[in-house]
Amino acid sequence: METMRSRLNDITERIERAARKNGRRSKDITMVAVTKTVGIEKVQEAQNLGVCDFGENRVQELKRKKSLLPQARWHLIGRLQTNKVKDVVGQAYLIHSLDRWTLAEAINKCGAALGIRVPVLVQVNISGETSKTGLKPGDVSSFLSSVGELPNLYVLGLMTIAPEDPDPQSSRAVFRELASLKNEISIRKYTNVELCHLSMGMSQDFEVAIEEGADIVRIGSALFK
Ligand SMILES: *Cc1c(COP(=O)(O)O)cnc(C)c1O
Repeated sequence: METMRSRLNDITERIERAARKNGRRSKDITMVAVTKTVGIEKVQEAQNLGVCDFGENRVQELKRKKSLLPQARWHLIGRLQTNKVKDVVGQAYLIHSLDRWTLAEAINKCGAALGIRVPVLVQVNISGETSKTGLKPGDVSSFLSSVGELPNLYVLGLMTIAPEDPDPQSSRAVFRELASLKNEISIRKYTNVELCHLSMGMSQDFEVAIEEGADIVRIGSALFK
């Protein structure tokens, strides 16, 4: 019988193998277990197996699950409405989905009220699909320059979602482009920005993402089924 433990072992081995291909180890890669639609008992089971990072795409669900499993690190990976910002700032370990300036301002304001710097990733729409949010690659540099005005925002990297496709290789070009964008803009120095992370890759294509430089992968169905 396939258990969560066996699925987790399989994912961990595949992460290790992909990481080695570009000179890293599995400890350099963070797996965020995506728990949307997953009941709390399953999340608890994953935590008991050693998973520390969990991702939710809805603020209410993140808050609810965090209140039940407060020791875990909770990542917000879905689109964030400006009016929900106050509910998630100070709660989320990392917000992966900063995709517009008004949201940056709202997060900054909330961070200031709490006296914290809020860690975020900037979501980039590499594929250009209209169904996806995110900055255009060409707009990221000027966006990051403006982040200098927002002292309570702390941009720690970039995130993208590849188009859905059963063939994981079809995501490679998207991941490569995000990695090269990060390299390009890392040369410049921006205030309140430290580009350490690349969050890309899901159940379907996380190995390809790691091969292309991801250090955070977001895995739901491959773990929880
Ligand atoms: C649902 C979701 C994932 C996980 O997708 P799986 O295919 O189940 O691994 C990753 N990232 C985001 C932004 C998601 O919404």
